[in-house]
Amino acid sequence: MKIAIVTGGGQGIGKGCAIRLAKDGATVCVMDVQMDKAEEVAAEIQSGGGTADAYRVDVSDVQSINSGVRTIVEKHGRIDILVQSAGVVQNKPFLEVSEADWDRVIDINEKGTLFFIQAVAKIMIDHVPQEVKDRGSADHSHGKIVNISSISGRRGREYHVHYAASKAAIISLTQSAATALARYNINVNAIAPSVVHTPMWEQVDREKAQMFGLPIGQSSREFIERIPLKRAGTPEDMAAAVSFLCSADSDYITGQTINVDGGYEMD
Ligand code: NAD
Repeated sequence: MKIAIVTGGGQGIGKGCAIRLAKDGATVCVMDVQMDKAEEVAAEIQSGGGTADAYRVDVSDVQSINSGVRTIVEKHGRIDILVQSAGVVQNKPFLEVSEADWDRVIDINEKGTLFFIQAVAKIMIDHVPQEVKDRGSADHSHGKIVNISSISGRRGREYHVHYAASKAAIISLTQSAATALARYNINVNAIAPSVVHTPMWEQVDREKAQMFGLPIGQSSREFIERIPLKRAGTPEDMAAAVSFLCSADSDYITGQTINVDGGYEMD
């Protein structure tokens, strides 16, 4: 049975991924700063016949990441899959973003992504057979890492400069990690969603409503109008792409950030 870690697994896209990976047959380690939410998701998976446990990890704290990963290795002996969905957003005019705003978003979204990859990749590498390490290639993957970027990482954004920068960094980190880990046959990819109905998106809508004096829901409706498929994504839509990137069917794909966005970005 595959051992999968899902960060930010307590709600939204991470919850969708945790439930999907459990349905795919993985033992899921649901990690979140909101321990009560992580426990609820683990309980939901267990009540559906899957295997899951909850862990409190703060991805902006490298010690917390390392201790979370150590706990999983002590319990399960290995890690096969890492899905990084922990993240925060903030909408604020460009000239008003403070140092504290920047540090918070970058620490969680960007720093957390790098150091979680490092911690998990070291465990994955320990399990790669020596002959594969010597040869530098194998006929199948020895680990799958999937990061969650955003269409906001594809170009600069006036109203969330720090968030957009962190999501662009995830595209770059995905390429760097894929290059560094290719010799171990560890695949590193990302998805870039547009609008997904989650608590984060509700926050975005609230912040935009306040910034522009709009009724709640209006900025979301306008955004969705610009999506060719004319609907918001669901956590299940994101989880389906993540499931593929965690499966053997994607063994020859690495370093890619795939837009899962209803056609919003086509470059
Ligand atoms: P969400 O706010 O609904 O869920 C995020 C989860 O991350 C929460 O459970 C939260 O507790 C957890 N988290 C926050 N800080 C953490 C930390 N320091 N350590 C551990 N866990 C932490 O958000 P979502 O919409 O599910 O977004 C998931 C990811 O997808 C994020 O990276 C987000 O940027 C990205 N994304 C979302 C959308 C969207 O429309 N919802 C679009 C593009 C990208």
